[in-house]
Amino acid sequence: MSKRIDIVSLYPKDMNIYGDTGNVLTITRRLGLYGYEPCVHFVNQGDAWPEQVDMILGGGGQDTGQKKIIDDLFERADLLRGLVEDGMPMLMICGLYQLFGEYFETVDGTRLDGIGAIGAYTVGGDVRRIGNLVEHSEDFDDIIGYENHSGQTFLREGVEPLGKVGEGLGNNGEDGTEGARVHNMIGTYMHGSLLPKNPAISDFLIRTAVERRYGSFDLSAQTDEQRAELSQLDEYCAKAREVAV
Ligand code: GLN
Repeated sequence: MSKRIDIVSLYPKDMNIYGDTGNVLTITRRLGLYGYEPCVHFVNQGDAWPEQVDMILGGGGQDTGQKKIIDDLFERADLLRGLVEDGMPMLMICGLYQLFGEYFETVDGTRLDGIGAIGAYTVGGDVRRIGNLVEHSEDFDDIIGYENHSGQTFLREGVEPLGKVGEGLGNNGEDGTEGARVHNMIGTYMHGSLLPKNPAISDFLIRTAVERRYGSFDLSAQTDEQRAELSQLDEYCAKAREVAV
């Protein structure tokens, strides 16, 4: 029997813009092709937290979407901060990346307090930062995606960025950083969606989730067909990356 991996898709109703749902689809597809059984729990405001969680995926949202989820996020702040500290693999894109930081001051002057899982703060401006985004990371090589945000994020001293910007603006357009990495949590402005074109990040999240739950990442349940399909997927992905980088 294949081993199950439980994934929380966090606020899929309000935080899902610019293709971020593709991250959930990519993780479930790849997990399946590695011979694991993915189970996705969609957690919106007020929903119960599942008993078993191995990975959390959160997308971006407009300022209005962020305002809708902020109270609920705050109620879950201790839980989420604890899970980050504990090494839970997580991916938080754009609007949720901002709210995992200390605060987001929106362009209309509203201050949304974040949960402080990342030492970073964000200030909204009236210029939107839109376009292709390419960055380099030692762990994940070139990361490619697309950014669309008004917020400028500044990392506190000592906070590790996800990567160094090659093309695009990244966290703030000033210091060359993009995203943040805290333990096994990745925060980033990369939409696109991110994971279909960046399998190194998908596999990092998958391996970490599997190792934390089962002790080791084993491929004993993977069939030959699944292995062949995965390598075909990786070929498509490599072609898509050639075009972009
Ligand atoms: N509303 C936030 C901003 O404009 C986040 C946008 C997003 O998630 N793409 O900065």
